[in-house]
Amino acid sequence: MATANYDVIIIGGGINGAATAASVAARGYRTLVLEQDDFASGTTSASTKLIHGGLRYLETGDAGLVHESLQSRERLLRERPHLVRPLGFILPVYEGDPRPPWYVRSGLALYDLLSPRKVSPWHSSFSERELQRFEPSISTDRLKAAYLYHDAQVWSPERLTLEYLAEARASGADLRNHAAVDYIIVDSGRARGVDFHDVLTGRRSTASGRLVINAAGPWVDAVLDATGRSLKRRIGGTRGSHLVVDLNGRGPRHAVLASAKSDGRPMFVTPWLDHHIIGTTDVRDDDDPSEVRAAGWEIDYLIAEAAQVLPGLGIEHRNVLYAYSGVRPLARAGEGVFEGAISRRSVIADHASEGVERLVSVVGGKLTTAAELGRKVSESVAQQIGRPRARGIAALPETPTSQAVFLAPETQEHLRTVYGPRAPEVAAYAAADPALGNPISARHRDIGAQVAYAVEHEGARTVADVLLRRTAVGLTKDLGRSAARPTAGIMAARLGWSDEVRDQSVRDYFKELHSRFVIMDASVPIPPGEQLPGSGTADAHEAGS
Ligand SMILES: Cc1cc2nc3c(=O)[nH]c(=O)nc-3n(C[C@H](O)[C@H](O)[C@H](O)COP(=O)(O)OP(=O)(O)OC[C@H]3O[C@@H](n4cnc5c(N)ncnc54)[C@H](O)[C@@H]3O)c2cc1C
Repeated sequence: MATANYDVIIIGGGINGAATAASVAARGYRTLVLEQDDFASGTTSASTKLIHGGLRYLETGDAGLVHESLQSRERLLRERPHLVRPLGFILPVYEGDPRPPWYVRSGLALYDLLSPRKVSPWHSSFSERELQRFEPSISTDRLKAAYLYHDAQVWSPERLTLEYLAEARASGADLRNHAAVDYIIVDSGRARGVDFHDVLTGRRSTASGRLVINAAGPWVDAVLDATGRSLKRRIGGTRGSHLVVDLNGRGPRHAVLASAKSDGRPMFVTPWLDHHIIGTTDVRDDDDPSEVRAAGWEIDYLIAEAAQVLPGLGIEHRNVLYAYSGVRPLARAGEGVFEGAISRRSVIADHASEGVERLVSVVGGKLTTAAELGRKVSESVAQQIGRPRARGIAALPETPTSQAVFLAPETQEHLRTVYGPRAPEVAAYAAADPALGNPISARHRDIGAQVAYAVEHEGARTVADVLLRRTAVGLTKDLGRSAARPTAGIMAARLGWSDEVRDQSVRDYFKELHSRFVIMDASVPIPPGEQLPGSGTADAHEAGS
């Protein structure tokens, strides 16, 4: 069994673990991140993808949280423009809605005031006729008022997480995915390290650390159980489900925020890549977060509500590509508290008062505020363990030396969108091996160089790591089915896989796809020779049609 020494061990490679790692490692602490699945594969991959202050949190009286989140939004818009983009929201108010126009207008005015130096315009209102011209898909039946305000969207929360991890790694952090923590070593009332195993190889290891951070999102309580002690429960999670729908290019160009007709809850329809996302639900869920799936009624509810506000589009089950769900890792609230009213604030819990020193849990938070949360956690690390031990920074893998790259302008643009300032590092792979400059399938703009980069620089170890979290190939119309085999081929060459391992990796991809999503689109072509779990009819379909 291998053993290694660190200052700080972070359990969980979601956005909070990643942002914490970036901040802790930047202070010079020897940092280890352990992620049981893949980075960003938990709640972080299951959000609405908004970078926002959270207009509706004003209703719970949390103006401080909204202000902080709006500052974070502006910082992300400034610092990561390739990932985080402004998004206009239309907010129609109808007769019978729970929030009357004056109430909505006051909320929007306060929202603007809480972010005085923002880059996007202040809110404005529409007459019925203006709304019909501006966004004709939105219903004007019984319309009382309509407003436009701006927030932002992160098109890939997974890549935002990877950027924080890249920063952590540049400061010397050791990052392990598919590495599950089994046991937190507690000795004389103090956390001393962890036992973990590599899920893909079965290899067992021990790491010692001066402080252990539990950033396991909705798994926080399960990780606390790994101390072997009965520590206070911290999570009262609620499940949120979304639908990814294909509206055949006819969907709204702006996001729509409306009150659901059946229960008055806020619901979003947001444009995302070539599709739209409809969300979300908010249901108490204490089951294993690894098993979270949208229930049939949630899918029906979201379709029905979206169809009411966008009646001309004929939204039905056949528009749905897939449903995804996640558990919000919210701080536990008392019984009888309405789900929407549970605080979205984050909590940094020190377990010293419960008899385990040097163990800290991070509960809650948002994509939007992860960097700030990471900074707060790193301050508490400094308070607890003092200055870092002196150490050297491990050398990073080299990218091929840059040569002239002849990539099509749209490919270069695509790389800039995915990697921002790191795009030339990816393009260099295509310069070194021109075959890697080709798209991985006729259906996608992503090229082979991205797969090589994902393996060598971003820790991708499975086909799903590449298609679902290093790129968005597996999240759009064909769910990456046309790209799975070519991706596995490029990975095999880099990772020394046998033909058998390569073929198994493709089957594992389909398995993971079906375990993560409720896939609704039965017409998606399946490459010949591939078979979806339980279908048995794959060869009847044509690939790439
Ligand atoms: C429906 C929904 C919509 C949301 N929408 C938004 C939004 O629009 N904007 C926004 O800002 N926020 C949003 N959020 C909130 C945001 O997504 C979460 O707060 C955030 O992703 C939590 O990140 P995390 O790192 O704490 O948790 P996670 O992403 O779940 O990461 C925890 C990680 O710990 C790992 N782990 C667990 N146990 C172990 C173990 N034993 N060993 C090793 N690793 C382990 C897990 O595999 C997981 O990857 C939304 C959340 C939900 C559910």
